[in-house]
Amino acid sequence: MLIDATDLEDGQEVTADICIVGGGLAGLGLASAFLGSEVRVAVLESGYLGPSAEADRLSEGEITAHPYFPLSEAAPRRLGGAAEVWGGWCRPFEAVDFEASYNGWTGWPIRAADLEPYYRLSVDFLEMSDRGFTGRDWADGLPALYRHIQDESSLRIGVWQESPLAPLSKSWAGRLRESHNLTTYLGATALHLEMGSGEAVAGISAAAADGKRFTVRARHFVLAGGALGTVRLMLASDSRSEEGIGNRHGMVGRFFAEHPHVVAGRIALSSEAKRRRPRFPAIDSGLGGLRARIEMERPRAGIRAGIHLDEDVRRREGLLNVIAHLRPPSVEPPQCALEFFREVRHRNIGKALRLVPELVRNLPAVLGVVYRRLLKRPRQLELYVQVETSPNPDSRIVLSDEKDEFGMPRADLQWRIDPADKENLQRTLQRMGDQLSALGLGSLELEPWVTAPGDVWSDEAFGGLHMMGATRMSVDPEDGVVDSDGRVHGVDNLWIAGSSVFPTYGAANPGMTIVATALRTAERIGQKLTGS
Ligand SMILES: Cc1cc2nc3c(=O)[nH]c(=O)nc-3n(C[C@H](O)[C@H](O)[C@H](O)COP(=O)(O)OP(=O)(O)OC[C@H]3O[C@@H](n4cnc5c(N)ncnc54)[C@H](O)[C@@H]3O)c2cc1C
Repeated sequence: MLIDATDLEDGQEVTADICIVGGGLAGLGLASAFLGSEVRVAVLESGYLGPSAEADRLSEGEITAHPYFPLSEAAPRRLGGAAEVWGGWCRPFEAVDFEASYNGWTGWPIRAADLEPYYRLSVDFLEMSDRGFTGRDWADGLPALYRHIQDESSLRIGVWQESPLAPLSKSWAGRLRESHNLTTYLGATALHLEMGSGEAVAGISAAAADGKRFTVRARHFVLAGGALGTVRLMLASDSRSEEGIGNRHGMVGRFFAEHPHVVAGRIALSSEAKRRRPRFPAIDSGLGGLRARIEMERPRAGIRAGIHLDEDVRRREGLLNVIAHLRPPSVEPPQCALEFFREVRHRNIGKALRLVPELVRNLPAVLGVVYRRLLKRPRQLELYVQVETSPNPDSRIVLSDEKDEFGMPRADLQWRIDPADKENLQRTLQRMGDQLSALGLGSLELEPWVTAPGDVWSDEAFGGLHMMGATRMSVDPEDGVVDSDGRVHGVDNLWIAGSSVFPTYGAANPGMTIVATALRTAERIGQKLTGS
C-alpha cells in the first residue's frame, strides 16, 4: 500500500514488525526480502513519487571542506531516492576490496564469499544478466582495444552492467501499491528515534508534509536514509544521550568517503598503435572520434568497461583500487552551445531560439568542437579514473547550526581525502602505464597535479555522487557503528542499510553492494523475528 502521510491523524500511532526509514535502493532492497510474507513492514519515505522541490530542500546543508555537489542533488528526497536519477551502472566489489585495510583502520569484517549469495540476489533485484562482471564474461561485447589489453597484458578488464531500473520506482511503485504487507508512507519524515527502557529503540517520531506528527512502533528499525539522512537522524536523536544514538565512541558521521572521478593521465598513441588498425578499429575508422567515443564508453552489449590492476598485485603492494576508463579526450563546447542543448532537452524552444544568434557568432568554435569530438581521429586517449580513497576519520558529516522546516539540524559535509592517497594513485597509474606501453599502445603522461609534490588534487576531482562511509561496519564497537550484520553496536533492534556501512570503498559504483548488504541484513532481521 502507498499512503500519503498527510492522510494520518495528528498524533496517530502506526505499528509494524519492521520500520524502515528511507525508500531508496537500500530501503526497498531490504524491504523486497519481506514482500509477500506475513511480516508487516512500514517504510517511511520523506519524498513522494517523482521530484518535489519542497522534499529535496530537506536534504540541503553545508559543504565546508573539499567541494561537493549541492546536497539536495546528491541526496534527492523521493521514492527511489538517488536511484531515481542514477546511471544504473552496477558492478560488485572485487574480492581484494573485502580484505584490504589501510592506515591502521579496520576493513570489512566479512569477505566476498560471505556476500556472494546476496550479490546473486542483487542481480535479480536489479534485473541484470547473470553473465558476470569481468571482461572474460563479456569478451564478445568488449571494444577491440580492451580485448587486446585483456589478452596480451596482466591488466584486468572490469565490466559494469546497466540496470534497467533507472529510475528504481519504475517497477517498485506498482509493487508497493499492490503489496498487502508493505505499507509505504510518502511525505513521511522521521525526526527522532526514541529509546525504550533497555538498549532498544521503542519508536520513531515522524512528520507528514503538512506538519502533522505521528509515531511508528515496531520490533526492529532500519535506517536507510542514505549517509546524510541516517547520520542526521542518529545524531539528532539526543534525548537519551547528548552524543545521539549508537555514538558512544564518537564514530557516527566519521569516515565519509566518495570515489573521486577525474582525468589523471593521457596516452599519446604511438605511431605503431595507429598502424595496427585491426586492434584499434574504433579509433581508425572514418568517423574517428564519434565511433571511438561510443565504442569505448557505450559498447554495443550495453555494458561499460575499465582497466584495473590484477588483484594479486594490489594484495602484494597494498594498493587502493583504481579503475581507469580509456576514452578519446573530452572537448568542452562553448557555453552558449551547452545552454542551447540544455534548453532543447528541456523543450524550452523559445529560450533555445534566443540563443541562436550567439551560436552563430561562435560558429567557428562550435564547428571546431564538432570536428574534434565527432570526426577527428584521436591522437590520445584519456585515462578517466574512479578512485578508492583510504578511510579517514576526519572526513565526516556533522550537524550544522541550521535547521530544516521540521526543526531538524541540517548536515555539514566535510569531505577530506588523505594526502597519502595521491601517492597511491600515482603508483597504480605508473603500473598501468608500463603495461600499456609494453603493449605498444603509447606512452602514459600523468596530469601535472598527479606528480606535483604535496597533497593537492585536481580541481576537477569530483565524487561520483557515491556517498559512502559515516556509519562503518566493524567487529569492535570502537572501530565503527554497525556490526558485521548491519546492527548498530549496543542497540538491540536498530539496523543500518546503505553504503554508509562500507568500511572501505573499492572503486566500483556502490549500488550493487548496497543491495547485497541490505539483503544480508534483511535475512538477519528475519532470523531475529522468527527466533531462528
Ligand atoms: C546522479 C547520480 C548518478 C548515480 N549513478 C550511479 C550509478 O550509475 N551506479 C551506482 O551504483 N550508483 C550510482 N549513484 C549512487 C547511487 O544512486 C546511490 O549510492 C544509491 O542510490 C543510494 O541508495 P540509498 O537507498 O542508500 O540512499 P538514497 O538513495 O539517498 O535513499 C535514501 C532515501 O531516504 C529518504 N530519507 C532520508 N532521510 C529521511 C528521513 N529522515 N525520513 C524519511 N525518509 C528519509 C530519502 O528521501 C531517500 O529516498 C548515483 C547517484 C546519483 C545522485
